Amino acid sequence: MNSFSKISLIIPCFNEEDGLLHFYETLLAKLPKSYSYEILFVDDGSTDQTLTILKKIAELDSQVCYLSFSRNFGHQNALKAGYDYATGDCAISLDADLQHPPELISTFIKKWEQGFDIVNSVRKDHTNISYSKKLSSKLFYLFINKLSDVKIGKGIADFRLIDRKVLDQLKLFHETHIFFRGIVPWLGFKQINIDYQAAERYSGQTKYTFKKMIHFASDGVTSFSVKPLRYSIYLGLLFAAIAFIYLFYAIYVYFFTEQAVAGWTSLIVSIAFFGGLNLIMLGIIGEYLGKLFIENKKRPSYIIRESNLSSNSDR
Ligand code: UDP
Ligand code: MG
Repeated sequence: MNSFSKISLIIPCFNEEDGLLHFYETLLAKLPKSYSYEILFVDDGSTDQTLTILKKIAELDSQVCYLSFSRNFGHQNALKAGYDYATGDCAISLDADLQHPPELISTFIKKWEQGFDIVNSVRKDHTNISYSKKLSSKLFYLFINKLSDVKIGKGIADFRLIDRKVLDQLKLFHETHIFFRGIVPWLGFKQINIDYQAAERYSGQTKYTFKKMIHFASDGVTSFSVKPLRYSIYLGLLFAAIAFIYLFYAIYVYFFTEQAVAGWTSLIVSIAFFGGLNLIMLGIIGEYLGKLFIENKKRPSYIIRESNLSSNSDR
């Protein structure tokens, strides 16, 4: 690593037309000098003017490249494309809304030069993050760490630096539902975490809808562990035990009391209850089976509709 190191910046964008130009200008101003850069924007199937803006920027600045997906494939797949196509000695991924402070890039690079292969960032919440975001993020980590075999630090963001040798390993992953916050700690190598204060979104709304958050959390769990399946067995056993005890009660009522017919209510209640429980267990199994089905098709994680990468001379 020397002052001629080439650093790739990976920026997934989905409908970011309002803030994109401002983001680009701020980023340029904050990049430490004496390195060469490849600024790779991944347009995740935006339906607004994002791609047009990217093309304009790329025309004026030869460091800038873009990939544009054929549709919205999601943030994680946009990151995957960025990591796959980055050509730098290391790659730094960050969001296009300035919530990942570009000032931190120089710290990332310093750590990398000290010999770290992966530099992660950890969001320290403060007041300018909305309450619902804080809550959903808290629930997310609670859920993941209880149910998943991989431990993900609270607040770990997709704002990180990855060395070339790790990027080459990442290319070997062909999971359809890739979940980088789980994969990256799993990879090993020399890692370090750096804290940062999240800024407010520069413009526009969050592109992570509630639905996307739920999918994200479910992928995080089901891609990393079969614990939910194991828990479903425990739960099944627990209720089987309760049902067994209830059996004794039913026998007692039948032989020693006069109220045998009065069992109708409890019958209906238990049928409904165990019916519901069965459906939950089937749902969990279905989730894994569905995942197996999708993975088995080996479809690509993203499809590129257009890009200026091939026209770039140093490729
Ligand atoms: N993003 C994307 N595809 C999506 C959703 C989001 O590429 O389907 C991008 C988005 O443009 C932004 C980054 O991923 O650069 C993080 O999204 P956002 O800021 O909306 O998420 P939040 O910060 O609210 O978690
Ligand atoms: Mg954001």
